[in-house]
Amino acid sequence: MHTANFHPLDVEAIRQDFPIFAGEQPLAFLDSAASAQTPQPVVAAMDTYYDTYRSNIHRGVYRISEEATAQYERAREKVAKLINAPNARQIVFTRNTTEAINLVAYSWGSATIGKDDEIVLTVMEHHSNLVPWQILAQRTGATLRFVEITDEGLLNFAHLRELLTEKTKLVAVTHVSNVLGTVNPLQSIIDAAHAVGAKVVVDAAQSVPHFRVDVQQLNCDFLAFSGHKMCGPTGIGVLYGKLPLLEEMPPFLGGGSMIRTVERDVSTYADVPAKFEAGTPSIAEAIGLGHAADYITQAGLEAIHVHTQQLLQHAHHRLKETQGITLYGPEPHQKAGVLSFNVAGIHPHDIAGILDMHGIAIRAGHHCAQPLMQKLDVIATARASFYLYNTLEDVERLYDGLRKAQKLMHRRSHSR
Ligand code: PLP
Repeated sequence: MHTANFHPLDVEAIRQDFPIFAGEQPLAFLDSAASAQTPQPVVAAMDTYYDTYRSNIHRGVYRISEEATAQYERAREKVAKLINAPNARQIVFTRNTTEAINLVAYSWGSATIGKDDEIVLTVMEHHSNLVPWQILAQRTGATLRFVEITDEGLLNFAHLRELLTEKTKLVAVTHVSNVLGTVNPLQSIIDAAHAVGAKVVVDAAQSVPHFRVDVQQLNCDFLAFSGHKMCGPTGIGVLYGKLPLLEEMPPFLGGGSMIRTVERDVSTYADVPAKFEAGTPSIAEAIGLGHAADYITQAGLEAIHVHTQQLLQHAHHRLKETQGITLYGPEPHQKAGVLSFNVAGIHPHDIAGILDMHGIAIRAGHHCAQPLMQKLDVIATARASFYLYNTLEDVERLYDGLRKAQKLMHRRSHSR
């Protein structure tokens, strides 16, 4: 992980870029896995668009529209560089990970999947990498198969191998579980899927913000992620695809910008990626995403990973030594960014509510992963997640807050 030009994060300097941390009540924001904070340079880039060259793209034959088009396309190049895509045309802007996966399910899926085909998923998928495949399976008669997890919360790779057959047309898998934090052995999964002729969709919503993801090295067919989890704005996400696949796929949505010619009864379509970007896109948000890619690259993805691992390890050990706390997922070195837990006798929503009174923001619920909750035999978990602006002090505040929650609930149950 440590490379010749590795620089540890200057967390104090980074925090200066996030005005939310300068508020009167100190905020321990431990919910970046849901949506990360947005640094000033990203907001400033979007403000500059609104203040100085606000206009639609790809159509205007005037200066500010040309500037907007250039900035939008520059953002595409920055995103391509972030994941080492060979060509910026392979970056399709969507609203978020969910829309990117739906795009593949509707476009590639409808054209490719038939009733005898199988789609392999895992039990740790977020609903956004599950429901689109359920809808596709219902429409086509295809069958969904699920890879189980081990007791430690790791993907059961032997089970994956059993499920992969010549019937498998697609493996759709998360890179990092948003509940367990498990980092899946993506390279091996992709190689095994390709060996039976299946394509692979990677849900990279929780990995691209945290460490270097190289689509050429991985050789994945599709990869999806969201801007808002990597210091970018909401309303912008990315679908990466292999060029021949994107070129063959029918359009997802029809309308302006995605056409070449339109007659009364028939149209021809624009080249990739415009073919998949119908209507006016999220222009400011795409520009913001490009700057977010710059921001995390300049901070250093290796440095972000090392830093968040330190916080994760510290939190893991602190919570593990506390009586009444159950941790979910594997050991810290096998996961990234998130730590799920439950506190005996306290509903996760109450934990989150009590922590909030102390200025600590965590998430509680099923985390859009209900099949995984069923597997873990819980209705919900509490989840703390860590990013480049978090500190060891945030982790200590979490620990103190949980101890206070335990004492409060203990007092309440004894006063009844
Ligand atoms: N996949 C994973 C692993 C996630 O954690 C999330 C968001 O929490 C998503 C997909 C969906 O992301 P979005 O809501 O931005 O589409």
